[in-house]
Amino acid sequence: MSLFLLACTAAPSTEDAATLADCTATVADDVPAFFATYFACTDISMEGDNVVLATDSLPPYATYYYGADHEMYAEWDDQGGETSPNPNTIEALTVRVVVPADPVARGLDIGEALVDHQMGTSDEEYVAGSVGVAPDSVANFNATAAPGDDIFEEELTFDEWDAHPTPNGEYHHHGANRGALAALDSLGVDATVFGVMCDGTVLLGCDELDGSAVDIDTLDAQDGHVGDIVDLDGTVHFSGRYHAHVCADYNGFGLYPEIQYYDACDSAPAMP
Ligand SMILES: [Zn+2]
Ligand SMILES: [Zn+2]
Repeated sequence: MSLFLLACTAAPSTEDAATLADCTATVADDVPAFFATYFACTDISMEGDNVVLATDSLPPYATYYYGADHEMYAEWDDQGGETSPNPNTIEALTVRVVVPADPVARGLDIGEALVDHQMGTSDEEYVAGSVGVAPDSVANFNATAAPGDDIFEEELTFDEWDAHPTPNGEYHHHGANRGALAALDSLGVDATVFGVMCDGTVLLGCDELDGSAVDIDTLDAQDGHVGDIVDLDGTVHFSGRYHAHVCADYNGFGLYPEIQYYDACDSAPAMP
């Protein structure tokens, strides 16, 4: 029996949020190894040809956004005067992201015109709300801001884990984040992975999964390209898979993708 088959407890409330050291999750034996390896605190199972990731999106670490009365509250870290909190507080929500095991490409050429960081400017965008899951079990949102807002200003309300909650309390990431890195560290994984998006797009860091350099000339406007995703042991997790390099050094400024490369996106999003 694998480490990941620990019994699942009842759905946690905000009051009994767990840490990376004591969170429990159920990962089924038949999910692809990528999902069994790079995600903490997230229930993962197969439904037909889909991988289903289920999480309450409660961060498994202390943050200001739990609110002052919570046992996992932390004082605001303004990161050298750069940031200030938004008025929202974390609530447990049911986030369910369904990822096709064999996604179908839309055939898009993702150029700068499509990647404008504004919500609702293209039918090819990920919808607002939870459209992916990060290794720390926190929801991934896309890299757009609502009309009138600027995603680069919203970043100024991120906590030290690079996340913030929506008005209805859903804590989420929009890009490269220290929450994912802490989760990977707790899993004993030597790689940078920011999770997966609902259409099957895989999220890596500045390097390929095996640590090799990215051929940046092949990256599109959201730092995505197609290639095999191979780990340090030589295991090929995905062949010919579109993935985005979430890295501040590249075109996308360290943000997640905005445009769906693949067709399907079945998730239960909360509002942004
Ligand atoms: Zn946000
Ligand atoms: Zn790559």
